[in-house]
Amino acid sequence: MESETDPLIQNGSQRNYAHDDDEHEAYKTRSRALIVRATVWSVLILLFVAGLVLVFAFSDFLSHFPWSGGLPKDPELAARRIMRSAPVIDGHIDLPYVVRLGYRNNVSAVDLEAPMPLQVDIPRLRKGMVGGFFWSVFVECPKDSKDDDDFLTSSWRVRDTLEQIDSAKLLIQKYPDTFQFATGTEDIRSSIRDGKIASLMGVEGGHQLGNSIAVLRQYHALGVRYVTLTHSCHNAFADSCGMMDGIEPLHWGLSALGRKLIDEMNRLGVLVDLSHTSDDTAAQALTYSKAPVIWSHSSARAVHNVPRNVPDYVLRLIGTGKGQRDGVVMVNFAPGFVAPEGKATVKAVANHVEHIANVAGKKRVGIGSDYDGIGTEVPKGLEDVSKYPALIAELYSRGWNKYELAGLTGGNLLRVFAGAEQVSRELQESGAAPVYDLYDQRKDIPPWRQEL
Ligand SMILES: [Zn+2]
Repeated sequence: MESETDPLIQNGSQRNYAHDDDEHEAYKTRSRALIVRATVWSVLILLFVAGLVLVFAFSDFLSHFPWSGGLPKDPELAARRIMRSAPVIDGHIDLPYVVRLGYRNNVSAVDLEAPMPLQVDIPRLRKGMVGGFFWSVFVECPKDSKDDDDFLTSSWRVRDTLEQIDSAKLLIQKYPDTFQFATGTEDIRSSIRDGKIASLMGVEGGHQLGNSIAVLRQYHALGVRYVTLTHSCHNAFADSCGMMDGIEPLHWGLSALGRKLIDEMNRLGVLVDLSHTSDDTAAQALTYSKAPVIWSHSSARAVHNVPRNVPDYVLRLIGTGKGQRDGVVMVNFAPGFVAPEGKATVKAVANHVEHIANVAGKKRVGIGSDYDGIGTEVPKGLEDVSKYPALIAELYSRGWNKYELAGLTGGNLLRVFAGAEQVSRELQESGAAPVYDLYDQRKDIPPWRQEL
């Protein structure tokens, strides 16, 4: 075989020597090209894998850069990232009441840059990423409602409310680098853009109006932008839900004067606040009001059964469908309204948020802590205004996305507030007149015009 094959090979090689050389060169070129291609692919694959590793393993790090759209895996970091552009706008903080009782209205004695006795001061507001809040201007109901069952017993409540407005305004002015007085949604947005805390005022109870719609107009002129229809007592306008045990109804919801009050609130652009009201008052006001409404500080009754919380049948009336009115329920942190004794935690508060969201929608829930109005008892994990990010983190870890959370922190309130501003503009443009109705039990003004 060798003798036969050798000559063949020899012959062949002799015969194709030049051709063979070419082929060898071509082979070498092809090999080089293959090596180059393999190298390029390897590098590309390596880069791709390295990219994936960076994205997944270091997403917390990457997320600090605005060009990376993702959020940190760590819920607290994610919450803070969301809150940088969507800070908390709290519906109800009782700082002026602390100034009243704790400092005898002497604003110069209040140092908000140092630790304050209860839940609110400037360092903790900043730490909690607060972009705005309603300063509640509140004075109490009569100690015993029997003392004033026709609401005609003269009292100092209008004076005391004016003092609360005065304290709030002076304290806002005292810290111009921190607080920006605000009376509308544009003010809130510009305060947040300027890194300030938008400071609005809400009157916590129709009893503070002295049963007078004219007083509402003057509170509005001073900058008040919500009135809670009742506190824990009935008044000439509406029924309250009382406190922990509830109370017997008086008007079975709104009185005729209460509907007139809502007309004027709608015309002025003062938000109708339904916290503290009876279920009948809330349901009737929702149906009657032309403007969207709020609950400045109320939680869900199905989660914790107390009269101060909103029942499901009322939650189902909130919306934009037939027979509904838009609104936002801003969840209260007061332990007694959150859970059985000793059980109030950040998770329990998140349960209220989720329940309201499940029944009324994620666009209809907000935050109304009631800080500084709840004494020294606070939920575990939500001890003061520095802790809002913990609630946002809890909901983030339950699957809420950044848009839903931005609605919860303040966007939902802004939508509802802007809706009320729009209704007010429309009513005024259409020539709606101020409401002149008086409480019909009043004896100080005769019931008909006098010959003078
Ligand atoms: Zn309250």
